[in-house]
Amino acid sequence: MTTASTDHAYLAANWASVRGRVDAACRDAGRDPSDVSILPVSKTFGPEVVRAAMALGLKRFGENKVQEIRAKAEALAGEDIEWVVIGHLQTNKAKDVARLASEVQSLDRIDLAEALHKRLMIEGRAIDVLIEVKTSPEESKQGLSPADLPAFLEALRAYDTLRVRGLMTMAVQSDDPEAVRACFRRLRELRDAAEMQGHELPRLSMGMSGDFSLAIAEGATEVRIGTAIFGRRDVTHV
Ligand SMILES: *Cc1c(COP(=O)(O)O)cnc(C)c1O
Repeated sequence: MTTASTDHAYLAANWASVRGRVDAACRDAGRDPSDVSILPVSKTFGPEVVRAAMALGLKRFGENKVQEIRAKAEALAGEDIEWVVIGHLQTNKAKDVARLASEVQSLDRIDLAEALHKRLMIEGRAIDVLIEVKTSPEESKQGLSPADLPAFLEALRAYDTLRVRGLMTMAVQSDDPEAVRACFRRLRELRDAAEMQGHELPRLSMGMSGDFSLAIAEGATEVRIGTAIFGRRDVTHV
């Protein structure tokens, strides 16, 4: 872990490189680079690293643990930051999420929607949410089963504090690019089918440091990038 006195020049170089690679992937896919945003994933890196990233103009940060958001939000109180929850959420974290997060990308079950809605009502806030869908056969992967998506979307209409904006997924971990790409394609097709049913789902959050080009080729509007911007994480903290 870097310290406050560390030179953070590497962040500017990494950021420029990632933005350049994302833009190139857009051009290869015949897409406009301005249609794909990058969500920097700062998990496991401390507030001083987030502060250095803010100096590059970044303001939204993806985190997978609510305790970490709490600690960083406290350390960076008063800063213009938006915390985006991308990891599996327990319902007992709903209070902190409602207080601190600007968005949740890992909404995958109705009891969680219910808990978030209750707490958001108390806070008097509404947040953007993406539904995490399990597009990979791996047991370890989180997310709603694709077959359950239509009913879930209907059920979410009851919660006006949750603005459903799109879908999120993590692809299978595989050396076979076709297997990875199939996960991203699946998410896009699920989105297209839901839009035919009258749901507006403009956002597709898919693609990470190792597979974002494939995700962009399949229509990602947002890629979640940790390692390629911030460096390798201490594996014991992942
Ligand atoms: C950690 C994480 C990422 C970023 O992964 P990298 O491979 O470091 O880019 C993206 N999405 C989710 C849900 C994550 O937990």
